[in-house]
Amino acid sequence: MTSTVAFIGLGNMGGPMAGNLVAAGHRVIGYDLFPEAREAAAGRGVEVAETGAAAAAQADVVVTMLPSGRHLIDAYQGELLAAAPAGTLFLDCSTVDVHDARAAADLARAAGHRPVDAPVSGGVVGAEAGTLTFMVGADQPEADAVWPFLEVMGKNLVHCGSSGAGQAAKVCNNMILGVSMIAVSEAFVLGERLGLSHQALYDVAAHSSGQCWALTANCPVPGPVPTSPANRDYQPGFMGALMSKDLGLAVEAIASTGTAARMGPLAAEIYAAYTEDGGARTDFSGIINTIRAGSGD
Ligand code: NAD
Repeated sequence: MTSTVAFIGLGNMGGPMAGNLVAAGHRVIGYDLFPEAREAAAGRGVEVAETGAAAAAQADVVVTMLPSGRHLIDAYQGELLAAAPAGTLFLDCSTVDVHDARAAADLARAAGHRPVDAPVSGGVVGAEAGTLTFMVGADQPEADAVWPFLEVMGKNLVHCGSSGAGQAAKVCNNMILGVSMIAVSEAFVLGERLGLSHQALYDVAAHSSGQCWALTANCPVPGPVPTSPANRDYQPGFMGALMSKDLGLAVEAIASTGTAARMGPLAAEIYAAYTEDGGARTDFSGIINTIRAGSGD
């Protein structure tokens, strides 16, 4: 069945996601504040609206892919909720903090709509290929209603619980990723200083208890995993600025829940410094060079 989808936020992720909805036969009416993003989306077959409200007014589902929770709440309150027909599905795929996700869902429900938070993992490559992981926070009827749209844009779909649960899963997953990338990078630098080759450490850890995605998919040294960003001078991949943003959300969640977590906040500090020192647009695995520099190499 084809639907009319309003797509708000046609950036690095939203543009290709909207394009995949067009390719699946949906009518997609998009809007972005940046003219360049609007033009690129038009090239993917998206009908470009004059405003977000104009897009939402015609929609069965309003998808948002925005930079932050503040952008999301502003867009919801500013125009989208009031413009959409009653009962519209509001599917937010941005990464925002759990508190903002729940606040946005409450606003949508109060306006008579049906909210879903569904942040993603898989980056621009996954957005282009339609292979994103979606972490879904919604009641069952809303989750069922958005599922066919998510299947177009993603491959691994997990219903994590009610509103906010998708963002909770995202923040926990990315905290594991940030901490594990630092651990893997420290291990390679330590190995170098102990005279161990990269390949030897990889061959052991990849097949034993040190195994993790940061090692076997995004290995921070060139060689063992030819597709990892380390082999192309740390071109992203997943930018340091985004890892820093996600760890900032983890820190907020840790503080608001009183969780006795120490590694997440430390990783947030380390990635904030990496971002400020020039790593913002470099793959997050480039943190290994900061560790080397700090070791006097
Ligand atoms: P981006 O900056 O490329 O795109 C965001 C777009 O939103 C921009 O084009 C901006 O102009 C637009 N925008 C902001 N406010 C708007 C408004 N009120 N109305 C219309 N458009 C508006 O960012 P991105 O990389 O596409 O990321 C989007 C979200 O996805 C973020 O929350 C990010 O954390 C998350 N995410 C990104 C990646 C990634 O690899 N890029 C991976 C997973 C999750």
